[in-house]
Amino acid sequence: MRMLIMGAPGAGKGTQAGAIAEHYGIPAISTGDMFRTNIKNGTELGQKVKSIMDAGDLVPDELTDAIVADRLNQDDAADGFLLDGYPRNMHQVQSLDEYLTEHGQALDAVVSLDVDPQLLTERLLKRAQIEGRSDDNEETIRTRLGVYREETFPLIEHYGDAIISIEDERFY
Ligand code: AMP
Repeated sequence: MRMLIMGAPGAGKGTQAGAIAEHYGIPAISTGDMFRTNIKNGTELGQKVKSIMDAGDLVPDELTDAIVADRLNQDDAADGFLLDGYPRNMHQVQSLDEYLTEHGQALDAVVSLDVDPQLLTERLLKRAQIEGRSDDNEETIRTRLGVYREETFPLIEHYGDAIISIEDERFY
């Protein structure tokens, strides 16, 4: 099973990704987590991406595409994976498409988590208190939601019929 999970910051991608990946016995691969680990370990990549993440902007595509390709090349991803937070723009979609084509692979599903935008900021601020993520402050949250709206949301249309849409029950 090869899947993507998409959704705005604060939609709960990480939580759902963990459960879905466990269900299918595939690795959940989060680009945000990989970047955070690099920052924590003080790697060269971590030093490059820290200020970008703290500002709420997207890490350049060439860095992001490269860590994803490296991760997908690992043995545990050979028979399936769940990508969480990647792709986030059209360039990354093309890069992933090329990777899959080169490896004779294709996506089986794209899950989209739809959450009332007003709830997102609330949730992110709450998460800031619990997890202390340096990019969960009001200004950065505004930037990240804007980046999502402009660059990532259009991907839902791109994936079209492949999308499985899950609405947050608190919508109603
Ligand atoms: P996330 O944990 O998915 O909310 O990602 C946290 C931050 O990591 C984002 O705000 C970006 O700065 C960076 N990031 C994560 N995934 C990507 C991606 N696919 N492309 C560019 N930047 C990313």
